[in-house]
Amino acid sequence: MRRIAPLVFLWFSCIALVAQTSTKPSIRVDVDATDPGRNFFHSKLTMPVSPGPLTLAYPEWIPGNHRPSGPIVNMTGLHIEGGGHAIEWRRDLKEMYAIHLQVPAGLSEITVSLDQITNTGVAGGSGASASENVLDVNWNQLVLYPASANSDDVQMKASIHLPDGWKFGTALSVAAQNGSSVEFEPVSLTTLVDSPLIAGSHYKLIELTGAGESPKHVIDLVGESDNAINMSANDIAAYKKLVAETGALFGARHYRQYHILLTLSDDVGGRGLEHHESSDNGPGEKALTDPSTHLVNAGLIPHEFTHSWNGKYRRPAGLTTRNYQEPMTGDLLWVYEGLTEYLGNVLTARTGLWTSKQYQESLAATAAALDYRAGRSWRSLGDTAVSVQLLRLAPSGWQNWRRSLDYYPEGELIWLEVDTRIRQLTNNQRSLDDFCKKFHGGQSGPPQVVPYNFNDLVRTLNEVAPYDWAALLNERVNSIQPHAPMGGIEQGGWRLVYNDTPNDLIKATEGVAKMANFTYSLGFWVNQEGGNFGDVIVGSPAFKAGIGPGMKLIAVNGRKWSSAGLNAALVAARNSKQPIELTVENAHRFKMYSIDYHDGPRHPHLERVADKPDLLGEILKSRTPSSGTTRSF
Ligand SMILES: [Zn+2]
Repeated sequence: MRRIAPLVFLWFSCIALVAQTSTKPSIRVDVDATDPGRNFFHSKLTMPVSPGPLTLAYPEWIPGNHRPSGPIVNMTGLHIEGGGHAIEWRRDLKEMYAIHLQVPAGLSEITVSLDQITNTGVAGGSGASASENVLDVNWNQLVLYPASANSDDVQMKASIHLPDGWKFGTALSVAAQNGSSVEFEPVSLTTLVDSPLIAGSHYKLIELTGAGESPKHVIDLVGESDNAINMSANDIAAYKKLVAETGALFGARHYRQYHILLTLSDDVGGRGLEHHESSDNGPGEKALTDPSTHLVNAGLIPHEFTHSWNGKYRRPAGLTTRNYQEPMTGDLLWVYEGLTEYLGNVLTARTGLWTSKQYQESLAATAAALDYRAGRSWRSLGDTAVSVQLLRLAPSGWQNWRRSLDYYPEGELIWLEVDTRIRQLTNNQRSLDDFCKKFHGGQSGPPQVVPYNFNDLVRTLNEVAPYDWAALLNERVNSIQPHAPMGGIEQGGWRLVYNDTPNDLIKATEGVAKMANFTYSLGFWVNQEGGNFGDVIVGSPAFKAGIGPGMKLIAVNGRKWSSAGLNAALVAARNSKQPIELTVENAHRFKMYSIDYHDGPRHPHLERVADKPDLLGEILKSRTPSSGTTRSF
């Protein structure tokens, strides 16, 4: 993470950089990860110090999480020593992530030992960091550093001791390896935290670029079994195409090499976390082998890879902080995440990981979900971005009224609207692809960060196609909008419709998440196991009848509830004047609820508007040949 200065200051910055090099603290961090089954990692830091007061910091604001999610509660066993003696430490009374100590006279080096418990909440994900077969090391949970330092200026020399026989993947360069002990080349603290490592007893490496091509792209896979990491030839071809398509889209790459780190485990992962030169993807053990899990997670890697350009290289100024203690501001997350969601899903279609039909089903599901967000009546999209610190951990109950991290999916709709508007304004001669080349392209090279603000965004859009982008984006983001923005779908030549044919993506999600979705008919979804109402849409037929999240569905029209039975009741109610009777348990009491609903099952889909050009179809077309070299610039 190297911030670049305006050109006129660049020379002076270089001088400053050279001057700083000699004074950069150089910390050694040795990690013992030989006890993965118990999720107990040991870290020993050796750092240069000067006598006097010293404050050390444990990383709090984690990049990609956009919030103070550093798992400080799991940092245990802290011991600090110097010159053979223990050094006392005190936690700051207000800043829980700050540790104060007094370095005795004559000392020039201390050692800090800590044990990190990683069974939960490791880096914004809810899963553990390790199992008996795999581990996923995020270095932010294993280091302390001088609290006042800029993370670019702290040099780290890292090593890790892995379980015997395990293999690993990381964007870090190996300096030396002796069996299961690996030493890495020195990097800044910024780069170390930005370079997770996965390892496992089942490991596979897939090269995505040909011999001699630069930069190199690989997939490192670890999983719970050899079968779990067995990627199909179709997927491998699609990820090779992803490399080519991103080249065609952005026109430059801001990394020296790129590692797609893929962990196939139901115990470890459950998230995607972006980095400059790698991404940490954990879509579950069956993501390569079960068709529904594959379909639902197809967009994960394109999304996280896109972040190398949108989020890591170009980053909102409010998310560009000097170290991990400085608070972040999330007001432009509808660009950081929303544009990534849009481009990631478009790339999922352009690479063939999704068919065009699957993309349309996904888009229909997204548009419908947002249109049924009752909380649109009181909360702007922009407030969901600003509130990331609050909303990330919010429960699902009343989600439609509270709103959620809507800047992801609604950002997708907004950027589709921008893309189709550019195409309309330029007679389809220009598109968001041109914006991406201007905004995210530039000169290829090692990672750097180029911060931006709202005006930079608007200026670049105007260079592509003059329009009042500021007014459009401000309205979409900052005003109360009772309905989801459908402009992109409509300008794209399609419309959102509901019928009784299940939506492919929603159906797959129901299977993977073990839930049944009746959001667009009765107005709720329930857990398949247990029948608990996950959410009930405010204003829906079920809401009007008195049902709320947390209650439990017992029976439908007097018969024990099932998803198929409830669907059959919806169909039957179409030709009946009788209400649908639900037996519901709430706080150990049973009650009957009558829902006067007769419109049958409703599932969202996109439908072509015959007299409009199919711009959406144009957007989804591959930009690269179906075979041949992955080099595109
Ligand atoms: Zn993202």
